Amino acid sequence: MKTVIEPKFRCGECHELHDDEDEARFCCVPSVVEVYICPICHTEYDHDEEAAIECCGFDPDGPPPPPTAAELEAAGQERLF
Ligand SMILES: [Zn+2]
Ligand SMILES: [Zn+2]
Repeated sequence: MKTVIEPKFRCGECHELHDDEDEARFCCVPSVVEVYICPICHTEYDHDEEAAIECCGFDPDGPPPPPTAAELEAAGQERLF
C-alpha cells in the first residue's frame, strides 16, 4: 500500500518532527543532561558549573575539600588495625 502523504515522525519528548523514524527515536532518547555537582555539599546544578562552584564557595585552585565524616571514620578505623 502506497501512502499519498509522506509520514513524519514526532519525537515524544520535545515534539519535534523528523522525516526519519530513527532520527525521531534518537532525538531525545536517552535525554542526557549535563550536571555539575558542588564538591562540598554535593548539590546538583544542571548545565551550570559556575553555580556549583559558587554554591559553597569552592575554590578550584585551593586545597581539596575536607574529607567527609565517612572518610574520616574509614581513615580512623584503618589506624586501629
Ligand atoms: Zn526530541
Ligand atoms: Zn554546596
